[in-house]
Amino acid sequence: MSQNFLKPITACFGQPVAENPTQVMIEAAYQQLGLDWRYITLEVGPDDLAAAVAGARAMGFRGFNCTIPHKVAVIEHLDGLGESAAVMQAVNCVVRRGDQLIGENTDGKGFVEGVKKLRDPKGKNVVLLGAGGAARAIAVELALSGAAKITLVNRTPQRGLETKALLDDQLDVATELITWDKPYAIPEGTDFLINATSIGLYPDVDAQLDLQYDTLQAETFVSDVVFNPPATHLIREAKGRGCETLDGLEMLVGQGVIGVDYWAGTSPEPKVMREALEQVFAS
Ligand code: NDP
Repeated sequence: MSQNFLKPITACFGQPVAENPTQVMIEAAYQQLGLDWRYITLEVGPDDLAAAVAGARAMGFRGFNCTIPHKVAVIEHLDGLGESAAVMQAVNCVVRRGDQLIGENTDGKGFVEGVKKLRDPKGKNVVLLGAGGAARAIAVELALSGAAKITLVNRTPQRGLETKALLDDQLDVATELITWDKPYAIPEGTDFLINATSIGLYPDVDAQLDLQYDTLQAETFVSDVVFNPPATHLIREAKGRGCETLDGLEMLVGQGVIGVDYWAGTSPEPKVMREALEQVFAS
């Protein structure tokens, strides 16, 4: 057994890629914090999930991230869930607390923490484009942070209904669902406009959201979950109209900061992590 193997490690259960951006970002954070830790990417098939979690326990992992298809299936192998993971019934970050493995969901937390540094969503009206995993995570965190109303705008009504029901049943927030079948006019009084769809993600960087951009007011805070490229069409339009913006890279960094904080008990420098990510995407 190599000496490296004995170091505290965190891991990512999912599909390994040649250069995993999350791995690069998290290891940059460990380096900045002076931690002699590793973040490794491991491919785990659905049938091996129980054994992989047992292995992580046995080997003293501080925690791990998990991606599709494990976000729901991992729950039965854990000892408990954090608040938003319990609402969403989805886990993307597992944390060892004492001898327990606790499931958290940092997908929306990273986003909301980033937003809060710039503008408080409490009591505000949010228009959320999309109703998939990212939209759901963001909606739950915004509701937990006291947003007054969340308008979900989604192409497929059924998916929108499921996300709306989750909010209506478990959280104290007004909701509305709009089926996105024509160019969407952003209502007056929209405090936050968030793209949580995958439209504009590399390589389809020229794909545009079906929005009536002339209805976008300078007072609206605009954000996009798409992180590659960070300067999406929406972010560029919003900046051009004088809106304050937050790009998807900040969300990814925010999520990483929370994960490292959960595992190591100390907060890394977001700038170092963003720079590491920018290098990956530039290469
Ligand atoms: P999902 O597949 O769960 O959801 C995709 C969403 O995009 C759905 O609402 C879908 O609508 C909508 N959508 C996709 N294509 C179109 C289209 N052509 N027209 C209209 N709507 C469309 O994906 P996720 O929620 O997991 O991820 C969404 C994006 O968020 C991805 O780009 C991902 O990379 C990004 N992301 C970013 C993170 C970050 O840290 N910055 C973290 C997590 C995700 P419908 O229901 O009708 O199919």
